[in-house]
Amino acid sequence: MKVKLCKRCGTKIFNPANATKYCANCRQEVAKVRYIERYYWLKEHRMCVECGHERAKQGKIHCKKCAEEARVRATVYKFEKLQAKQ
Ligand SMILES: [Zn+2]
Ligand SMILES: [Zn+2]
Repeated sequence: MKVKLCKRCGTKIFNPANATKYCANCRQEVAKVRYIERYYWLKEHRMCVECGHERAKQGKIHCKKCAEEARVRATVYKFEKLQAKQ
């Protein structure tokens, strides 16, 4: 059986995929940290935090397109929650 060690905490990873460097826990942590770093970088540069390449609207964190998509997603989410209740 192939075993790798997590580069962050040293936990053994059994049958790792080729690109795997971290255990499942650390992968989540690393992804979270990266996401937060990206978020603040984009916000600071007044870029859309969703797509990362459009300019964000004044005082907003999303560009026009992503703001619209987020709105639709929120609506769908609310609708699905409502349906689940019934
Ligand atoms: Zn780990
Ligand atoms: Zn965007």
